[in-house]
Amino acid sequence: MTQIGVFMKVLFKNAKILRLDFDEGLFDGDVVVNGNLIEFVGPKAPEDNYDKIIDVKGNILMPGFVDTHCHTAMTLLRGLKDDAQLNEWLFDNIIPTEAKLKPSDVYWGQKLGILEYLAAGITTIEEGYFYNEEIVKAMKESKLRGRIGFGPTTRDVGMSNMDYLKSQYEMIGDSDLIKPVCFIHAIYTTDDKSIMECVDFTAKHNIPRSIHLSETLKEVGDCTVEHNQKTPPQYLEDLGFFDRPALCYHCVHMDKDDLQILADYDASVSTCPSSNIKLASGIAPIYAMQNKGINVTIGTDGVASNNSLDMFKEMFLVATLSKVNIYNAEVVKAKEVLAMATINGAKALGFNSGEIKVGKLADIILIDINKPHFYPHSNLLSHLVYSAKSSDVYLTMVNGEVLYHNGEFLNENKELIYKKANEIRERLTK
Ligand SMILES: [Zn+2]
Repeated sequence: MTQIGVFMKVLFKNAKILRLDFDEGLFDGDVVVNGNLIEFVGPKAPEDNYDKIIDVKGNILMPGFVDTHCHTAMTLLRGLKDDAQLNEWLFDNIIPTEAKLKPSDVYWGQKLGILEYLAAGITTIEEGYFYNEEIVKAMKESKLRGRIGFGPTTRDVGMSNMDYLKSQYEMIGDSDLIKPVCFIHAIYTTDDKSIMECVDFTAKHNIPRSIHLSETLKEVGDCTVEHNQKTPPQYLEDLGFFDRPALCYHCVHMDKDDLQILADYDASVSTCPSSNIKLASGIAPIYAMQNKGINVTIGTDGVASNNSLDMFKEMFLVATLSKVNIYNAEVVKAKEVLAMATINGAKALGFNSGEIKVGKLADIILIDINKPHFYPHSNLLSHLVYSAKSSDVYLTMVNGEVLYHNGEFLNENKELIYKKANEIRERLTK
């Protein structure tokens, strides 16, 4: 353990500040963080007794990434099965291995993922896994921001589905750092009754909802056969799923009518391009979503299908795949993709973050642009999407606290986490 990165009042000076609401996108100035909030953004910060002054030296200060679709403890399954389509990958490889996971394994898998998020500038996640007590423990200990998914389970938990939902909701709680979301895995793994119970429970407690939706052609085809010609969004609409704020992961195979349902209910999409191309699921129609006014956000999905937690990689893929998908290089521009990875994600998850603005939560990352692939310093917004790598992240601040700085995790024991990850993986695949 090294020093803890807690500072009351921090001045970042001499920064290139990312502001997507400005035409230029970047401007030279200072940022002051007081407690967990951004207190000042402008050309020159006032003189004050700062607890810490960080000279950014003309590098980029931007909001931390909001990764809107994660199964973090799948870090333990990294590289478990390549070269398979989703159904074979999930049902023949991932689920049988996950059955061997103990609660404490999920804690260590979560911790490993948190290291990867922090080193890659990801300050907020949407989590969807199991053994939530361990996930919440790891998140609170590491001070990462996140919305934690809870939903129906097939495990024997010794209580009814409704009682289980209630106990999980109460255990997760609701704060600046951790919020609850009802996570229904998918329509092909959850029956009508369980979906209806989740819909009722979340309506009663004002809780948002998330689901994997129209990820593969098989999911869409099976749904139309089983549910009277309805596509997955039509089926969920009839069950009342969209009556509360919803976030839909993937949305690869959607026609105009499906997208219209999402638009009508103000649902957000989490697009996960690495996972979709690795499992050969397809390419999501991002430009069509934008034209419908849908809030598009970006997720990494779990490491077992990605295989890394790197929003720079995802941004590059969202921009380029969306262009080649409709053979039009003019669509889905760098600035729009940066918004998807930050402010759009914060909006979808209900956090007051995702922008470097006064009054916003201080989730800030520093990008080192003094590297060959950032020169010439001519079109830095483009470089952030098309040239940057997660290893360019120099500092990660979450909720006003520096958690990662110059390659070091300030309150994590990374050697222990690496050791546990290797031990657990060895046991899982023995
Ligand atoms: Zn997923």
